[in-house]
Amino acid sequence: MAMLGMIKRVTQISRNYSRVRVYPVRHFQSKDLSNTNSFHGEDAKLPVLIVGAGPVGLVLSILLTKLGVKCAVVDKATCFSKHPQAHFINNRSMEIFRELDGLAEEIERSQPPVDFWRKFIYCTSLSGSTLGTVDHMQPQDFEKAVSPASVAHFSQYKLTNLMLKRLEHLGFHVRSRKELDGLELDSVIARQILMGHECVGIDVNKDSVTATVSFLGGGKHMKRNVQCSLLVGADGAGSAVRKLTKIEMRGERDLQKLVSIHFMSRELGEYLMIRRPGMLFFIFNTEGIGVLVAHDLQQGEFVLQIPYYPPQQSLSDFSPEMCKMLIFNLVGHELSDLDVADIKPWVMHAEVAEKFMCCENRVILAGDAAHRFPPAGGFGMNTGIQDAHNLAWKIAALFQGSAKSSILNTYETERRPIALFNTSLSVHNFRAAMAVPTALGLDPTVANSVHRFINKTVGSILPTGLQKAILDNVFALGRAQLSESLLNESNPLGNQRLSRLKSIFDGGKSLQLQFPAEDLGFRYLKGAIVPDNKSEDPKVPSGRRRDYVPCAEPGSRLPHMHVRILSGSTKEIVVSTLDLVSTEKVEFLLIISPLQESYELACATFKVAKEFIANVKVCVAWPSSEEGVERDSKSALAPWENYADVMEVKRQDDEGTSWWSICKMSERGSILVRPDQHIAWRAKSSVTLESTSHMRDVFSTILGKQ
Ligand SMILES: Cc1cc2nc3c(=O)[nH]c(=O)nc-3n(C[C@H](O)[C@H](O)[C@H](O)COP(=O)(O)OP(=O)(O)OC[C@H]3O[C@@H](n4cnc5c(N)ncnc54)[C@H](O)[C@@H]3O)c2cc1C
Repeated sequence: MAMLGMIKRVTQISRNYSRVRVYPVRHFQSKDLSNTNSFHGEDAKLPVLIVGAGPVGLVLSILLTKLGVKCAVVDKATCFSKHPQAHFINNRSMEIFRELDGLAEEIERSQPPVDFWRKFIYCTSLSGSTLGTVDHMQPQDFEKAVSPASVAHFSQYKLTNLMLKRLEHLGFHVRSRKELDGLELDSVIARQILMGHECVGIDVNKDSVTATVSFLGGGKHMKRNVQCSLLVGADGAGSAVRKLTKIEMRGERDLQKLVSIHFMSRELGEYLMIRRPGMLFFIFNTEGIGVLVAHDLQQGEFVLQIPYYPPQQSLSDFSPEMCKMLIFNLVGHELSDLDVADIKPWVMHAEVAEKFMCCENRVILAGDAAHRFPPAGGFGMNTGIQDAHNLAWKIAALFQGSAKSSILNTYETERRPIALFNTSLSVHNFRAAMAVPTALGLDPTVANSVHRFINKTVGSILPTGLQKAILDNVFALGRAQLSESLLNESNPLGNQRLSRLKSIFDGGKSLQLQFPAEDLGFRYLKGAIVPDNKSEDPKVPSGRRRDYVPCAEPGSRLPHMHVRILSGSTKEIVVSTLDLVSTEKVEFLLIISPLQESYELACATFKVAKEFIANVKVCVAWPSSEEGVERDSKSALAPWENYADVMEVKRQDDEGTSWWSICKMSERGSILVRPDQHIAWRAKSSVTLESTSHMRDVFSTILGKQ
């Protein structure tokens, strides 16, 4: 109860406090900033202010800082949440985390062993009968053939801690409320994370954005104005930045309301590690229905998700004592060490913001602020992290003067279609998750329809207690379908339902965990790229697992292959092609073969990049055959020196596949890669036009300088 009281108090403070004064957003259409050079850091005190210190805001602050852009973060929460929330980190996010000073490696070391989380288990209780088990790891997931990283299972709050450690190394300082008392209102706040600071107003003029943030200082409500060149709203699903700038969400609202019960029990963790280890447990019995997320079996950390039907149900119905009862019912026995840590309601939506930026590109949305979808498939945080990765190099290129402000438009052009696609994919996955209860005779859409029906009809006439009783009875009737006397092979209906379940599991038609084709294979069709004349549109989401097929079409992530760095050093250095892209500066990478015409193209590219104040590195990919050949591109590329000779390292089981065949290109081709490892341009075979003017067109298009 104390916990619930606290939740209410915090909400109340926030509500009172969010008598948000919507500052006029001036000069929106008044000037085309792309014609001015007013995005330079010196014009405003702070180049970038990030609102929200969730995973997206923190990743963006790390990336920007590494690329030399000063930023600061404000968050309305007084401390970082301990609620585990997201836990599945997909392959592409892990690749991005490899760039963040060993973050991916630290996650791999710290996460629970894969055998403890590779399965989803469907059962009547954690100690009752198993209805089905689905293993989501396939042999190829361990081979690291298509990516140098693997998917991971690691709770969001632990990830936040590792990100904060990186930020500390980069010179950031987290200022808690206590430390804020000494901070002057007009002090420079670059490289600071100000906790307890809520963004309540945004004022934009032609040169800068001023965010008004409110905080408690010396026991009083105070306001601080933070002036910056760009403001990124990474402030989550209920984004104040989005509301203040009047950006609407589009899509389906209120798909499902749920309550998350965060609890600890080492006893349950040990039991499951021995008896039936898994990541998600879908539990169906006559007393209750819920999904248990095993965040860490070794530490005994869990979150139970249960459907929630307000206004007939209220959060006070989920007291810690009631939650314990619910947990015992679903576990199938009592637990001596059960400790309920936190109880939180949340609503599932499938919505994407109508636009990702406004105010002449000075206010930008990222992460849940721009899109919120069902967690089925774990695309929420992952999509947000990839937003930050797309945005960071564009902001850095703008501040360095190599790009025009119109490059920021390409953030929306590229990321919004991905958000729409992932929304649709997550809705498909959410529906696939419903296949199992539906086969058990528990169509969840019926429960939602009954609930909506009660709200629309008797909702205003009958007392809430009576409505709740009706709803409880309807649900109890539904759950009666799960009784052991019905759900067994000797009962004809039970038998029919169990065989339907088997065909769902065997046919891969239940909720999937991995989507390699979408996770690694997402592609930008237009934006800061020069598309091929003819390219296929991405396949529509199916909700089924599909393998990733390497692709070197512009807009795709650069395919991965191991290459050996050829240098004077005797130490053999083998890296992924993805590692050839710099993480420390905004630098394009041109991959070529050691052919005269390709060297000429490389020299032209160096020359053009210099005109654009852009950095380019050339990678010369030597085939792995021919021993004893001298492999040094120095004389062919002179006077340019920023190049690396690398040699293909073919996999033992795949001797015949060369780099260019992975890319489905001729060795006379070349690939220009952006700082976010996506392909900006390619020539499938040699460039037939005059190289310098061709590359000038390419850079103009990518950097928005046309
Ligand atoms: C049950 C559940 C399970 C999930 N599982 C997964 C998963 O496995 N994988 C996955 O990828 N995703 C998952 N998600 C989604 C994931 O949690 C979110 O997508 C992710 O938290 C979004 O990160 P964010 O940084 O955009 O926003 P948030 O994490 O919401 O962070 C926003 C921050 O902004 C702050 N803030 C808000 N308003 C203001 C303001 N006015 N001023 C200042 N600060 C403000 C908040 O305090 C907060 O710290 C799950 C979600 C749920 C609910």
